[in-house]
Amino acid sequence: RGKRAFIAGVADDNGYGWAIAKSLAAAGAEILVGTWVPALNIFETSLRRGKFDESRVLPDGSLMEITKVYPLDAVYDSPEDVPEDVKSNKRYAGCTNWTVKEVAECVKHDFGTIDILVHSLANGPEVSKPLLETSRNGYLAAISASSYSFVSLLKHFVPIMNPGGATISLTYIASERIIPGYGGGMSSAKAALESDTRVLAFEAGRKHRVRVNTISAGPLRSRAAKAIGFIDMMIDYSLENAPLQKELSAEEVGNAAAFLASPLASAVTGAVIYVDNGLNAMGVGV
Ligand code: NAD
Repeated sequence: RGKRAFIAGVADDNGYGWAIAKSLAAAGAEILVGTWVPALNIFETSLRRGKFDESRVLPDGSLMEITKVYPLDAVYDSPEDVPEDVKSNKRYAGCTNWTVKEVAECVKHDFGTIDILVHSLANGPEVSKPLLETSRNGYLAAISASSYSFVSLLKHFVPIMNPGGATISLTYIASERIIPGYGGGMSSAKAALESDTRVLAFEAGRKHRVRVNTISAGPLRSRAAKAIGFIDMMIDYSLENAPLQKELSAEEVGNAAAFLASPLASAVTGAVIYVDNGLNAMGVGV
């Protein structure tokens, strides 16, 4: 039987989540995605109208099939956690079962089990503010959406993951080196995500034989990255300074994720894997 993957954080065809879905589909996996509730409508409509058809093409010429799109807001674990103003918000009101616990229950009901869980989402409302100017709420919101969201996804999905399964998240080197401009507590959130990758690798490995890794990816002009505001500068910086002087494609990150999710990586867990043209290894720009 082919493997089944749930990829959280796909809302268009520009980001890492989409590219990971494609690489997994090309390797034969069945694809389920979790899409942020406010972005669900436009994503589903675009998908249905064929707007993504060009980017759905796989290496063998066929089109990637997404078996099911689940609405998801990874900031809420169960319905009791959802505040009134969100419940009644018109972008959420027409939609049900989108808290993490409910999505896991729906996937279990629809498909029984999964083999691969991908977390490709982040949000930091104050990302454009330096850490020194970040509010407590902004900092906690960044951690909630970008770090705890992975703990919560793993907690709720691990019981329906087949032994030998793999989980992958996406991180950024701002967790360990100073990247001015990656503010609002997002650098802190990525540091937490990387530390949690190790602890969760232990816990999920011992308990369920599930592997947990994170990819530290280089800069990509995704929707989220454009919102931060300095993505073109980071891409130019990498082109100039990285050991491999080429633009990083989302597909290269997708392929690394497919490797990490496959039996080829059966002894790799708790790792931060750099997929960044080697930029992380540089000490000075040249
Ligand atoms: P993206 O915009 O494609 O993906 C981010 C997704 O997160 C979006 O689909 C958005 O709808 C979703 N999202 C936000 N809040 C959510 C919530 N509460 N619940 C559910 N979904 C939510 O952008 P991307 O850059 O591909 O980001 C994917 C991952 O890659 C993120 O973790 C990001 O930090 C990481 N990353 C990106 C870069 C880069 O340069 N683009 C570099 C390193 C790491």
